[in-house]
Amino acid sequence: MLKGIAASQGIAVAKVYKLEQPVLEIVKKDSVVEGELAKLANAFTKTVEDIKKIKEVASKSLAAEELAVFDAHLMMAGDPELRGQIEDMIKNEGVNADYATQQVANMMVSIFESMDDAYMRERAADVKDVTFRLMCNICGKVIPNLSTIDKPVVIVAKDLTPSDTGSLNKEFAKGFATEIGGRTSHSAIMARSLEIPAVVGVTGILEAAKDGDEVILDAINGEVILNPTPEQVAEYQKKAEAFKAEKEALKALKDKESVSTDGHKVLLVGNIGSPKDAEGVVENGGEGVGLFRTEFLYMKSEDWPDEETQFQAYKAVMEKMDGKPVVIRTLDIGGDKKLNYYTFEEEMNPFLGVRAVRFCLMRKDIFRTQLRALLRASAYGHLCIMFPMIATVGEFKDAKQCYEDARAELIAEGVKVGDKVEVGCMIEIPAAAVLADKIAKYADFFSIGTNDLIQYSMAADRMSQPVSYLYQPLNPSILRLIKMTIDGAHKNGKWCGMCGEMAGDELAAPVLLGLGLDEFSMSATSILNARKIITGLSYAEMKEMAEKALECDTAEEVTELVKKVL
Ligand code: PEP
Ligand code: MG
Repeated sequence: MLKGIAASQGIAVAKVYKLEQPVLEIVKKDSVVEGELAKLANAFTKTVEDIKKIKEVASKSLAAEELAVFDAHLMMAGDPELRGQIEDMIKNEGVNADYATQQVANMMVSIFESMDDAYMRERAADVKDVTFRLMCNICGKVIPNLSTIDKPVVIVAKDLTPSDTGSLNKEFAKGFATEIGGRTSHSAIMARSLEIPAVVGVTGILEAAKDGDEVILDAINGEVILNPTPEQVAEYQKKAEAFKAEKEALKALKDKESVSTDGHKVLLVGNIGSPKDAEGVVENGGEGVGLFRTEFLYMKSEDWPDEETQFQAYKAVMEKMDGKPVVIRTLDIGGDKKLNYYTFEEEMNPFLGVRAVRFCLMRKDIFRTQLRALLRASAYGHLCIMFPMIATVGEFKDAKQCYEDARAELIAEGVKVGDKVEVGCMIEIPAAAVLADKIAKYADFFSIGTNDLIQYSMAADRMSQPVSYLYQPLNPSILRLIKMTIDGAHKNGKWCGMCGEMAGDELAAPVLLGLGLDEFSMSATSILNARKIITGLSYAEMKEMAEKALECDTAEEVTELVKKVL
Protein backbone atom coordinates (compact mmCIF):
# COMPACT_ATOMS: atom_id res chain seq x y z
CA MET A 1 0.00 0.00 0.00
CA LEU A 2 1.36 3.40 -1.01
CA LYS A 3 0.36 6.76 0.44
CA GLY A 4 -0.27 10.04 -1.36
CA ILE A 5 -2.54 13.08 -1.28
CA ALA A 6 -6.24 12.57 -2.06
CA ALA A 7 -6.67 15.27 -4.70
CA SER A 8 -10.13 14.35 -5.94
CA GLN A 9 -12.37 12.20 -3.78
CA GLY A 10 -13.67 8.78 -4.75
CA ILE A 11 -12.76 5.10 -4.96
CA ALA A 12 -11.81 3.05 -8.00
CA VAL A 13 -10.97 -0.61 -8.49
CA ALA A 14 -9.48 -1.48 -11.90
CA LYS A 15 -6.33 -2.48 -13.79
CA VAL A 16 -3.23 -0.32 -14.00
CA TYR A 17 -2.58 1.56 -17.23
CA LYS A 18 0.92 2.91 -17.08
CA LEU A 19 1.30 6.06 -19.04
CA GLU A 20 4.82 6.30 -20.23
CA GLN A 21 5.93 9.20 -22.30
CA PRO A 22 8.32 8.68 -25.23
CA VAL A 23 11.93 9.01 -24.17
CA LEU A 24 13.73 11.73 -26.05
CA GLU A 25 17.47 11.48 -26.41
CA ILE A 26 18.43 14.98 -27.30
CA VAL A 27 22.05 15.79 -27.96
CA LYS A 28 23.65 18.95 -29.25
CA LYS A 29 24.63 18.69 -32.93
CA ASP A 30 26.09 21.10 -35.41
CA SER A 31 23.37 21.53 -38.00
CA VAL A 32 22.37 23.39 -41.12
CA VAL A 33 20.43 26.42 -39.95
CA GLU A 34 17.87 26.50 -42.78
CA GLY A 35 16.97 22.82 -42.33
CA GLU A 36 16.51 23.18 -38.57
CA LEU A 37 14.38 26.30 -38.95
CA ALA A 38 12.12 24.44 -41.38
CA LYS A 39 11.85 21.46 -38.95
CA LEU A 40 10.94 23.85 -36.17
CA ALA A 41 8.30 25.59 -38.28
CA ASN A 42 6.66 22.25 -39.16
CA ALA A 43 6.76 21.14 -35.52
CA PHE A 44 5.08 24.36 -34.39
CA THR A 45 2.30 23.87 -36.97
CA LYS A 46 1.78 20.24 -35.90
CA THR A 47 1.83 21.18 -32.19
CA VAL A 48 -0.90 23.76 -32.70
CA GLU A 49 -2.98 21.18 -34.63
CA ASP A 50 -2.44 18.58 -31.87
CA ILE A 51 -3.55 20.94 -29.10
CA LYS A 52 -6.61 21.99 -31.08
CA LYS A 53 -7.59 18.32 -31.51
CA ILE A 54 -7.12 17.56 -27.82
CA LYS A 55 -9.17 20.61 -26.93
CA GLU A 56 -11.94 19.35 -29.19
CA VAL A 57 -12.04 15.99 -27.38
CA ALA A 58 -11.79 17.70 -24.00
CA SER A 59 -14.62 20.12 -24.79
CA LYS A 60 -17.03 17.18 -24.54
CA SER A 61 -16.27 16.67 -20.87
CA LEU A 62 -14.84 19.91 -19.53
CA ALA A 63 -16.44 23.27 -18.78
CA ALA A 64 -15.33 26.44 -20.54
CA GLU A 65 -13.20 27.49 -17.57
CA GLU A 66 -11.20 24.28 -17.63
CA LEU A 67 -10.75 24.49 -21.37
CA ALA A 68 -8.97 27.80 -20.84
CA VAL A 69 -5.76 25.86 -20.19
CA PHE A 70 -5.73 24.71 -23.82
CA ASP A 71 -6.14 28.29 -24.97
CA ALA A 72 -3.15 29.14 -22.81
CA HIS A 73 -1.24 26.32 -24.52
CA LEU A 74 -2.30 27.48 -27.94
CA MET A 75 -1.13 30.95 -27.04
CA MET A 76 2.20 29.58 -25.88
CA ALA A 77 2.57 27.55 -29.07
CA GLY A 78 1.86 30.70 -31.06
CA ASP A 79 4.01 32.94 -28.88
CA PRO A 80 6.58 34.77 -31.04
CA GLU A 81 8.77 35.19 -27.94
CA LEU A 82 9.14 31.41 -27.41
CA ARG A 83 9.62 30.70 -31.09
CA GLY A 84 11.94 33.69 -31.50
CA GLN A 85 14.21 32.52 -28.69
CA ILE A 86 14.52 29.03 -30.19
CA GLU A 87 15.13 30.41 -33.69
CA ASP A 88 17.79 32.80 -32.36
CA MET A 89 19.62 29.94 -30.71
CA ILE A 90 19.55 27.87 -33.92
CA LYS A 91 20.80 30.84 -35.93
CA ASN A 92 23.43 32.04 -33.48
CA GLU A 93 24.84 28.69 -32.44
CA GLY A 94 24.10 26.52 -35.48
CA VAL A 95 22.54 23.83 -33.26
CA ASN A 96 19.72 21.34 -33.93
CA ALA A 97 16.09 22.43 -33.39
CA ASP A 98 15.28 19.84 -30.67
CA TYR A 99 18.33 20.85 -28.65
CA ALA A 100 17.54 24.58 -28.94
CA THR A 101 13.94 23.91 -27.88
CA GLN A 102 15.11 21.93 -24.88
CA GLN A 103 17.49 24.69 -23.76
CA VAL A 104 14.87 27.45 -24.05
CA ALA A 105 12.27 25.25 -22.32
CA ASN A 106 14.60 24.49 -19.41
CA MET A 107 15.29 28.16 -18.91
CA MET A 108 11.59 29.10 -18.93
CA VAL A 109 10.68 26.25 -16.61
CA SER A 110 13.31 27.24 -14.08
CA ILE A 111 12.03 30.84 -14.09
CA PHE A 112 8.48 29.65 -13.29
CA GLU A 113 9.64 27.12 -10.74
CA SER A 114 11.60 29.72 -8.79
CA MET A 115 8.56 31.95 -8.30
CA ASP A 116 7.19 32.40 -4.77
CA ASP A 117 3.57 32.01 -5.74
CA ALA A 118 2.46 28.35 -5.72
CA TYR A 119 0.04 28.99 -8.58
CA MET A 120 2.79 30.47 -10.78
CA ARG A 121 5.13 27.60 -9.91
CA GLU A 122 2.54 25.12 -11.12
CA ARG A 123 2.46 26.98 -14.47
CA ALA A 124 5.88 25.51 -15.22
CA ALA A 125 3.84 22.41 -16.10
CA ASP A 126 2.25 24.29 -19.01
CA VAL A 127 5.64 25.19 -20.47
CA LYS A 128 6.82 21.59 -20.07
CA ASP A 129 3.67 20.25 -21.72
CA VAL A 130 3.85 22.47 -24.81
CA THR A 131 7.61 22.23 -25.33
CA PHE A 132 7.63 18.44 -24.85
CA ARG A 133 5.03 18.11 -27.57
CA LEU A 134 7.10 20.41 -29.72
CA MET A 135 10.26 18.33 -29.20
CA CYS A 136 8.39 15.07 -29.94
CA ASN A 137 7.11 16.60 -33.15
CA ILE A 138 10.62 17.70 -34.14
CA CYS A 139 11.96 14.19 -33.45
CA GLY A 140 8.98 12.39 -35.04
CA LYS A 141 7.95 10.63 -31.77
CA VAL A 142 4.32 9.90 -30.99
CA ILE A 143 2.83 10.91 -27.64
CA PRO A 144 0.38 8.27 -26.30
CA ASN A 145 -3.22 9.30 -26.58
CA LEU A 146 -5.35 8.49 -23.57
CA SER A 147 -8.54 8.99 -25.52
CA THR A 148 -7.98 5.58 -27.17
CA ILE A 149 -8.31 3.60 -23.90
CA ASP A 150 -11.33 1.28 -24.15
CA LYS A 151 -11.23 -0.75 -20.90
CA PRO A 152 -11.71 0.39 -17.30
CA VAL A 153 -8.31 1.46 -15.94
CA VAL A 154 -6.56 3.44 -13.26
CA ILE A 155 -3.88 5.52 -14.94
CA VAL A 156 -0.50 5.52 -13.26
CA ALA A 157 1.94 8.18 -14.37
CA LYS A 158 4.72 10.42 -13.18
CA ASP A 159 2.35 13.35 -13.62
CA LEU A 160 -0.52 14.00 -15.98
CA THR A 161 -0.27 17.01 -18.23
CA PRO A 162 -3.36 19.09 -19.01
CA SER A 163 -3.35 17.46 -22.48
CA ASP A 164 -3.46 14.04 -20.81
CA THR A 165 -6.30 14.89 -18.45
CA GLY A 166 -8.12 16.58 -21.30
CA SER A 167 -8.08 13.41 -23.39
CA LEU A 168 -9.36 11.18 -20.57
CA ASN A 169 -12.57 9.40 -21.31
CA LYS A 170 -14.47 9.17 -18.03
CA GLU A 171 -16.17 5.98 -19.12
CA PHE A 172 -12.90 4.03 -18.96
CA ALA A 173 -10.51 6.20 -16.94
CA LYS A 174 -11.72 5.31 -13.47
CA GLY A 175 -9.07 7.33 -11.70
CA PHE A 176 -5.39 8.15 -11.62
CA ALA A 177 -2.38 8.03 -9.35
CA THR A 178 0.67 10.16 -10.00
CA GLU A 179 4.15 10.08 -8.59
CA ILE A 180 4.34 13.87 -8.21
CA GLY A 181 1.89 16.76 -7.80
CA GLY A 182 0.03 18.60 -5.08
CA ARG A 183 -3.49 19.83 -4.45
CA THR A 184 -3.06 22.84 -6.77
CA SER A 185 -1.37 20.98 -9.62
CA HIS A 186 -3.19 20.95 -12.93
CA SER A 187 -3.90 17.26 -12.78
CA ALA A 188 -5.53 17.67 -9.35
CA ILE A 189 -7.65 20.62 -10.45
CA MET A 190 -8.75 18.78 -13.58
CA ALA A 191 -9.54 15.61 -11.64
CA ARG A 192 -11.86 17.58 -9.38
CA SER A 193 -13.62 19.17 -12.36
CA LEU A 194 -13.98 15.82 -14.09
CA GLU A 195 -14.93 14.24 -10.77
CA ILE A 196 -12.46 11.41 -11.32
CA PRO A 197 -10.84 9.99 -8.16
CA ALA A 198 -7.17 10.96 -7.99
CA VAL A 199 -4.30 10.42 -5.59
CA VAL A 200 -1.25 12.55 -6.34
CA GLY A 201 2.27 12.64 -4.92
CA VAL A 202 2.43 8.84 -4.53
CA THR A 203 6.17 8.30 -4.16
CA GLY A 204 7.32 5.02 -5.67
CA ILE A 205 4.15 4.22 -7.62
CA LEU A 206 5.87 4.14 -11.01
CA GLU A 207 8.37 1.59 -9.87
CA ALA A 208 5.90 -0.54 -7.94
CA ALA A 209 3.04 -0.72 -10.48
CA LYS A 210 3.11 -2.81 -13.65
CA ASP A 211 0.75 -2.54 -16.61
CA GLY A 212 -2.29 -4.75 -16.01
CA ASP A 213 -1.82 -5.07 -12.21
CA GLU A 214 -5.02 -4.95 -10.22
CA VAL A 215 -5.22 -1.76 -8.16
CA ILE A 216 -7.45 -0.11 -5.58
CA LEU A 217 -7.40 3.69 -5.62
CA ASP A 218 -8.73 5.04 -2.36
CA ALA A 219 -8.90 8.77 -3.08
CA ILE A 220 -10.69 9.46 0.17
CA ASN A 221 -7.81 8.43 2.39
CA GLY A 222 -5.06 9.02 -0.21
CA GLU A 223 -4.05 5.35 -0.55
CA VAL A 224 -3.15 3.09 -3.44
CA ILE A 225 -3.30 -0.68 -2.90
CA LEU A 226 -1.48 -2.72 -5.55
CA ASN A 227 -2.42 -6.36 -6.18
CA PRO A 228 -5.10 -6.45 -3.47
CA THR A 229 -6.60 -9.63 -2.03
CA PRO A 230 -10.08 -10.70 -3.28
CA GLU A 231 -11.47 -9.67 0.14
CA GLN A 232 -10.01 -6.19 -0.24
CA VAL A 233 -11.43 -5.90 -3.74
CA ALA A 234 -14.90 -6.85 -2.50
CA GLU A 235 -14.65 -4.44 0.43
CA TYR A 236 -13.61 -1.50 -1.74
CA GLN A 237 -16.15 -2.24 -4.44
CA LYS A 238 -18.80 -1.88 -1.77
CA LYS A 239 -17.22 1.33 -0.48
CA ALA A 240 -17.09 2.73 -4.02
CA GLU A 241 -20.79 2.01 -4.55
CA ALA A 242 -21.69 3.64 -1.24
CA PHE A 243 -19.58 6.70 -2.02
CA LYS A 244 -21.16 7.10 -5.44
CA ALA A 245 -24.67 6.74 -4.09
CA GLU A 246 -24.01 9.27 -1.33
CA LYS A 247 -22.55 11.80 -3.74
CA GLU A 248 -25.42 11.43 -6.18
CA ALA A 249 -27.93 11.86 -3.40
CA LEU A 250 -26.18 15.00 -2.19
CA LYS A 251 -26.15 16.51 -5.68
CA ALA A 252 -29.91 16.52 -5.69
CA LEU A 253 -29.70 19.10 -2.90
CA LYS A 254 -27.57 21.56 -4.87
CA ASP A 255 -30.31 23.98 -5.82
CA LYS A 256 -32.55 23.28 -2.87
CA GLU A 257 -33.20 25.68 -0.03
CA SER A 258 -31.81 24.91 3.41
CA VAL A 259 -35.10 24.49 5.26
CA SER A 260 -35.88 22.36 8.32
CA THR A 261 -38.73 19.84 8.17
CA ASP A 262 -40.99 22.41 9.87
CA GLY A 263 -40.16 25.26 7.50
CA HIS A 264 -37.40 27.17 9.29
CA LYS A 265 -34.96 28.53 6.68
CA VAL A 266 -31.23 29.13 7.16
CA LEU A 267 -28.47 30.10 4.74
CA LEU A 268 -25.58 27.72 3.93
CA VAL A 269 -22.64 29.65 2.52
CA GLY A 270 -18.93 29.14 1.86
CA ASN A 271 -15.61 30.30 3.30
CA ILE A 272 -13.08 31.40 0.71
CA GLY A 273 -9.46 32.57 0.68
CA SER A 274 -9.20 33.76 -2.92
CA PRO A 275 -11.59 34.86 -5.68
CA LYS A 276 -11.02 31.54 -7.43
CA ASP A 277 -12.48 29.62 -4.49
CA ALA A 278 -15.87 31.23 -5.16
CA GLU A 279 -16.37 28.75 -8.05
CA GLY A 280 -16.33 25.85 -5.60
CA VAL A 281 -18.97 27.57 -3.49
CA VAL A 282 -21.31 27.91 -6.48
CA GLU A 283 -20.66 24.34 -7.64
CA ASN A 284 -21.47 23.00 -4.20
CA GLY A 285 -24.76 24.81 -3.91
CA GLY A 286 -23.56 27.62 -1.62
CA GLU A 287 -26.12 30.37 -1.12
CA GLY A 288 -23.43 33.02 -0.85
CA VAL A 289 -20.01 33.64 0.67
CA GLY A 290 -19.94 33.90 4.46
CA LEU A 291 -16.27 34.68 4.90
CA PHE A 292 -13.68 35.92 2.43
CA ARG A 293 -10.40 35.93 4.38
CA THR A 294 -8.77 38.89 2.62
CA GLU A 295 -5.43 38.51 4.41
CA PHE A 296 -4.33 35.96 1.80
CA LEU A 297 -4.38 38.76 -0.76
CA TYR A 298 -1.95 40.64 1.46
CA MET A 299 0.16 37.60 2.30
CA LYS A 300 0.86 36.58 -1.27
CA SER A 301 1.62 40.14 -2.32
CA GLU A 302 5.11 41.70 -2.49
CA ASP A 303 3.94 44.91 -0.86
CA TRP A 304 0.66 46.30 0.49
CA PRO A 305 -1.82 45.51 -2.33
CA ASP A 306 -3.10 48.71 -3.93
CA GLU A 307 -6.74 49.77 -4.21
CA GLU A 308 -7.15 48.66 -7.82
CA THR A 309 -5.72 45.16 -7.21
CA GLN A 310 -8.02 44.70 -4.24
CA PHE A 311 -11.02 46.10 -6.10
CA GLN A 312 -10.52 43.59 -8.93
CA ALA A 313 -10.32 40.68 -6.48
CA TYR A 314 -13.46 41.71 -4.56
CA LYS A 315 -15.37 42.51 -7.75
CA ALA A 316 -14.52 39.06 -9.17
CA VAL A 317 -16.14 37.42 -6.15
CA MET A 318 -19.20 39.69 -6.31
CA GLU A 319 -19.70 38.87 -9.97
CA LYS A 320 -19.24 35.15 -9.48
CA MET A 321 -21.84 35.16 -6.69
CA ASP A 322 -24.28 37.00 -8.92
CA GLY A 323 -26.30 38.97 -6.34
CA LYS A 324 -26.04 36.40 -3.55
CA PRO A 325 -24.71 37.82 -0.25
CA VAL A 326 -20.92 38.07 -0.01
CA VAL A 327 -19.36 38.68 3.41
CA ILE A 328 -15.86 40.09 3.11
CA ARG A 329 -13.76 40.44 6.22
CA THR A 330 -11.37 43.37 6.49
CA LEU A 331 -7.70 42.63 7.04
CA ASP A 332 -7.06 40.12 9.85
CA ILE A 333 -3.29 40.21 10.10
CA GLY A 334 -0.96 39.75 13.07
CA GLY A 335 -1.15 36.83 15.51
CA ASP A 336 0.13 33.89 13.47
CA LYS A 337 -0.32 35.69 10.14
CA LYS A 338 2.76 37.59 9.05
CA LEU A 339 3.73 39.68 6.02
CA ASN A 340 7.06 39.59 4.14
CA TYR A 341 7.10 43.33 3.65
CA TYR A 342 6.14 44.52 7.11
CA THR A 343 7.65 43.78 10.50
CA PHE A 344 5.24 43.60 13.40
CA GLU A 345 6.51 44.76 16.80
CA GLU A 346 7.72 41.80 18.90
CA GLU A 347 5.06 40.91 21.45
CA MET A 348 4.97 38.35 24.27
CA ASN A 349 1.53 37.13 23.16
CA PRO A 350 0.91 38.05 19.53
CA PHE A 351 -2.60 36.52 19.66
CA LEU A 352 -3.44 39.03 22.39
CA GLY A 353 -1.64 41.89 20.72
CA VAL A 354 -1.92 44.17 17.73
CA ARG A 355 -3.88 42.13 15.21
CA ALA A 356 -6.88 42.49 12.90
CA VAL A 357 -9.03 45.57 13.49
CA ARG A 358 -6.64 46.77 16.21
CA PHE A 359 -3.90 47.02 13.59
CA CYS A 360 -6.26 48.64 11.07
CA LEU A 361 -7.33 51.32 13.56
CA MET A 362 -3.65 52.12 14.17
CA ARG A 363 -2.86 52.16 10.44
CA LYS A 364 -5.88 53.95 9.03
CA ASP A 365 -4.04 54.57 5.74
CA ILE A 366 -3.95 50.82 5.06
CA PHE A 367 -7.53 50.38 6.32
CA ARG A 368 -8.76 53.22 4.06
CA THR A 369 -7.32 51.60 0.92
CA GLN A 370 -9.15 48.36 1.66
CA LEU A 371 -12.43 50.06 2.54
CA ARG A 372 -12.33 52.09 -0.69
CA ALA A 373 -11.69 48.93 -2.74
CA LEU A 374 -14.54 47.14 -0.95
CA LEU A 375 -16.96 50.02 -1.44
CA ARG A 376 -16.14 50.20 -5.15
CA ALA A 377 -16.84 46.46 -5.42
CA SER A 378 -20.13 46.92 -3.54
CA ALA A 379 -21.68 48.27 -6.73
CA TYR A 380 -21.52 44.72 -8.19
CA GLY A 381 -23.81 42.81 -5.87
CA HIS A 382 -24.84 42.30 -2.24
CA LEU A 383 -21.81 43.15 -0.12
CA CYS A 384 -21.52 42.65 3.63
CA ILE A 385 -18.30 44.00 5.19
CA MET A 386 -17.22 42.75 8.59
CA PHE A 387 -14.55 43.75 11.07
CA PRO A 388 -12.58 40.99 12.81
CA MET A 389 -11.56 40.91 16.50
CA ILE A 390 -13.91 43.58 17.79
CA ALA A 391 -13.80 43.68 21.60
CA THR A 392 -15.81 46.80 22.43
CA VAL A 393 -18.61 49.03 21.17
CA GLY A 394 -16.02 51.80 20.82
CA GLU A 395 -13.85 49.78 18.43
CA PHE A 396 -16.83 48.92 16.28
CA LYS A 397 -17.92 52.56 16.11
CA ASP A 398 -14.38 53.68 15.17
CA ALA A 399 -14.13 51.09 12.41
CA LYS A 400 -17.60 51.98 11.15
CA GLN A 401 -16.57 55.67 11.07
CA CYS A 402 -13.60 54.76 8.84
CA TYR A 403 -16.08 53.01 6.56
CA GLU A 404 -18.39 56.07 6.51
CA ASP A 405 -15.44 58.36 5.72
CA ALA A 406 -14.30 56.18 2.81
CA ARG A 407 -17.86 56.05 1.51
CA ALA A 408 -18.33 59.84 1.68
CA GLU A 409 -14.97 60.31 -0.06
CA LEU A 410 -15.91 58.03 -2.96
CA ILE A 411 -19.33 59.60 -3.37
CA ALA A 412 -17.71 63.07 -3.45
CA GLU A 413 -15.39 61.77 -6.19
CA GLY A 414 -18.42 60.63 -8.15
CA VAL A 415 -17.51 56.92 -7.82
CA LYS A 416 -20.39 54.45 -7.82
CA VAL A 417 -20.92 52.50 -4.58
CA GLY A 418 -23.67 50.04 -3.61
CA ASP A 419 -26.58 51.45 -1.64
CA LYS A 420 -27.34 48.26 0.32
CA VAL A 421 -23.96 47.53 1.93
CA GLU A 422 -24.25 45.83 5.34
CA VAL A 423 -21.56 46.51 7.93
CA GLY A 424 -21.17 43.80 10.52
CA CYS A 425 -19.03 42.57 13.35
CA MET A 426 -17.20 39.31 13.94
CA ILE A 427 -17.83 37.96 17.40
CA GLU A 428 -14.70 36.09 18.38
CA ILE A 429 -13.73 37.73 21.66
CA PRO A 430 -15.75 36.64 24.73
CA ALA A 431 -16.25 40.28 25.84
CA ALA A 432 -18.02 41.02 22.55
CA ALA A 433 -20.22 37.92 22.88
CA VAL A 434 -21.31 38.96 26.37
CA LEU A 435 -22.11 42.48 25.17
CA ALA A 436 -23.61 41.39 21.86
CA ASP A 437 -27.02 42.95 22.56
CA LYS A 438 -25.32 46.36 22.83
CA ILE A 439 -23.01 45.97 19.80
CA ALA A 440 -26.01 44.83 17.73
CA LYS A 441 -27.47 48.34 18.01
CA TYR A 442 -24.68 49.57 15.73
CA ALA A 443 -23.87 46.51 13.58
CA ASP A 444 -26.03 45.23 10.73
CA PHE A 445 -25.09 41.59 11.40
CA PHE A 446 -22.79 39.29 13.37
CA SER A 447 -20.60 36.40 12.29
CA ILE A 448 -19.25 34.23 15.07
CA GLY A 449 -15.60 33.25 14.70
CA THR A 450 -15.52 30.15 16.85
CA ASN A 451 -11.88 29.34 16.11
CA ASP A 452 -10.85 32.39 18.09
CA LEU A 453 -13.88 32.56 20.37
CA ILE A 454 -13.01 29.11 21.72
CA GLN A 455 -9.29 29.81 22.07
CA TYR A 456 -9.96 33.02 24.01
CA SER A 457 -12.75 31.53 26.15
CA MET A 458 -10.71 28.48 27.08
CA ALA A 459 -7.42 30.44 27.26
CA ALA A 460 -5.98 27.72 25.04
CA ASP A 461 -3.74 28.73 22.12
CA ARG A 462 -5.25 27.31 18.94
CA MET A 463 -1.74 26.51 17.67
CA SER A 464 -0.74 24.46 20.70
CA GLN A 465 -1.04 20.69 20.38
CA PRO A 466 -0.90 19.82 24.15
CA VAL A 467 -3.89 22.04 24.97
CA SER A 468 -5.87 21.16 21.85
CA TYR A 469 -8.22 19.05 24.00
CA LEU A 470 -9.69 22.37 25.13
CA TYR A 471 -11.05 23.04 21.65
CA GLN A 472 -14.57 22.05 22.70
CA PRO A 473 -17.20 23.64 20.44
CA LEU A 474 -19.94 21.74 22.23
CA ASN A 475 -18.93 22.79 25.73
CA PRO A 476 -21.98 24.47 27.32
CA SER A 477 -19.81 27.53 28.09
CA ILE A 478 -19.25 28.07 24.37
CA LEU A 479 -22.89 27.32 23.56
CA ARG A 480 -24.00 29.95 26.09
CA LEU A 481 -21.73 32.57 24.48
CA ILE A 482 -23.16 31.64 21.08
CA LYS A 483 -26.69 31.92 22.42
CA MET A 484 -25.97 35.38 23.89
CA THR A 485 -24.63 36.49 20.51
CA ILE A 486 -27.57 35.16 18.49
CA ASP A 487 -30.14 36.53 20.96
CA GLY A 488 -28.34 39.90 21.06
CA ALA A 489 -28.59 40.14 17.28
CA HIS A 490 -32.23 39.03 17.09
CA LYS A 491 -33.32 41.39 19.88
CA ASN A 492 -32.16 44.24 17.63
CA GLY A 493 -33.65 42.82 14.46
CA LYS A 494 -30.24 41.79 13.08
CA TRP A 495 -29.06 38.46 11.66
CA CYS A 496 -26.34 36.23 13.05
CA GLY A 497 -24.02 33.88 11.17
CA MET A 498 -21.02 31.73 12.03
CA CYS A 499 -17.82 31.37 9.99
CA GLY A 500 -15.55 29.42 12.35
CA GLU A 501 -14.94 25.70 11.70
CA MET A 502 -17.75 24.83 14.10
CA ALA A 503 -20.31 25.95 11.48
CA GLY A 504 -19.38 22.99 9.26
CA ASP A 505 -19.22 20.47 12.11
CA GLU A 506 -21.87 17.76 11.69
CA LEU A 507 -22.35 17.36 15.43
CA ALA A 508 -22.74 21.09 16.03
CA ALA A 509 -25.31 21.70 13.25
CA PRO A 510 -28.41 20.51 15.20
CA VAL A 511 -27.54 22.63 18.25
CA LEU A 512 -26.74 25.72 16.17
CA LEU A 513 -30.00 25.32 14.30
CA GLY A 514 -31.82 25.08 17.64
CA LEU A 515 -30.06 28.16 18.99
CA GLY A 516 -31.42 30.12 16.01
CA LEU A 517 -28.26 30.64 13.92
CA ASP A 518 -29.29 32.27 10.61
CA GLU A 519 -26.24 31.61 8.45
CA PHE A 520 -23.67 28.77 8.48
CA SER A 521 -20.41 29.44 6.61
CA MET A 522 -18.05 26.54 5.92
CA SER A 523 -15.65 25.07 3.36
CA ALA A 524 -17.45 24.57 0.06
CA THR A 525 -17.21 20.78 0.09
CA SER A 526 -19.10 20.57 3.40
CA ILE A 527 -22.14 22.54 2.22
CA LEU A 528 -24.20 19.76 0.64
CA ASN A 529 -23.71 17.45 3.59
CA ALA A 530 -24.78 20.22 5.99
CA ARG A 531 -27.88 20.77 3.84
CA LYS A 532 -28.69 17.09 4.07
CA ILE A 533 -28.50 17.24 7.86
CA ILE A 534 -30.47 20.45 8.31
CA THR A 535 -33.24 19.56 5.89
CA GLY A 536 -33.76 16.39 7.91
CA LEU A 537 -34.22 18.12 11.28
CA SER A 538 -37.19 19.76 12.97
CA TYR A 539 -36.43 23.29 14.18
CA ALA A 540 -38.90 23.00 17.06
CA GLU A 541 -37.24 19.79 18.28
CA MET A 542 -33.73 21.26 17.91
CA LYS A 543 -34.81 24.30 19.93
CA GLU A 544 -35.83 22.00 22.75
CA MET A 545 -32.63 19.99 22.44
CA ALA A 546 -30.50 23.19 22.47
CA GLU A 547 -32.24 24.33 25.68
CA LYS A 548 -31.18 21.05 27.29
CA ALA A 549 -27.65 21.37 25.87
CA LEU A 550 -27.24 24.76 27.56
CA GLU A 551 -28.00 23.07 30.90
CA CYS A 552 -25.48 20.23 30.46
CA ASP A 553 -22.31 20.06 32.53
CA THR A 554 -19.88 18.95 29.85
CA ALA A 555 -19.25 18.77 26.10
CA GLU A 556 -19.57 14.97 26.32
CA GLU A 557 -23.10 15.27 27.65
CA VAL A 558 -24.02 17.61 24.79
CA THR A 559 -22.49 15.18 22.30
CA GLU A 560 -24.72 12.41 23.67
CA LEU A 561 -27.80 14.62 23.26
CA VAL A 562 -26.90 15.45 19.65
CA LYS A 563 -26.17 11.84 18.72
CA LYS A 564 -29.71 10.95 19.74
CA VAL A 565 -31.23 13.33 17.17
CA LEU A 566 -28.83 12.57 14.28
C1 PEP B 1 -12.45 32.36 13.54
O1 PEP B 1 -11.69 32.85 14.36
O2 PEP B 1 -13.32 31.51 13.83
C2 PEP B 1 -12.38 32.75 12.13
C3 PEP B 1 -13.29 32.39 11.26
O3 PEP B 1 -11.30 33.46 11.74
P1 PEP B 1 -9.82 32.90 11.54
O4 PEP B 1 -9.87 31.41 11.63
O5 PEP B 1 -9.40 33.40 10.21
O6 PEP B 1 -9.10 33.54 12.68
MG1 MG C 1 -10.54 34.65 13.90
